[in-house]
Amino acid sequence: MECCSEENSCKTNAEKIVCITCGAQAQKVNYKTVLMMLKFEQVKTAEESDYFLCTNQGCDTVYFSNKLNLIYNKNDIRIKIGFKEKAEPKLVCYCFDITEKQITDEVKQKGQSLIVEFITEKTRNKLCACSIKNPTGKCCLKNVNKIISNVK
Ligand SMILES: [Zn+2]
Repeated sequence: MECCSEENSCKTNAEKIVCITCGAQAQKVNYKTVLMMLKFEQVKTAEESDYFLCTNQGCDTVYFSNKLNLIYNKNDIRIKIGFKEKAEPKLVCYCFDITEKQITDEVKQKGQSLIVEFITEKTRNKLCACSIKNPTGKCCLKNVNKIISNVK
């Protein structure tokens, strides 16, 4: 799985699809990722197609397919999606169960992040499962680094 490669993120950004519900720019997401995130009642309705993810925090829609005219909302997802939540715990790393607060607290206290080193080391050794555990289907490192630079 090349979940952390630059190439993957470029390909995603090239597609300009907006959320059916809120109009924010959406990201392409793999069918398998969608299946692994849905509750069983919804899994049964999800046919193979092109799916997109809305990362807008205020929007209730998580995944949608224009082709199938399908929308999956937060209630249809089996986990709590960090970037859709206003209050902690806001999960950032879904493979190792790390929240935004854990990262910001660490950086505030130590001035650096051992968490990011931990995640980097594990992903380098392919000991992660971003494609099925992260609702974006991608590695969390980009977001983790964004959180760290926001604290500094
Ligand atoms: Zn939306």
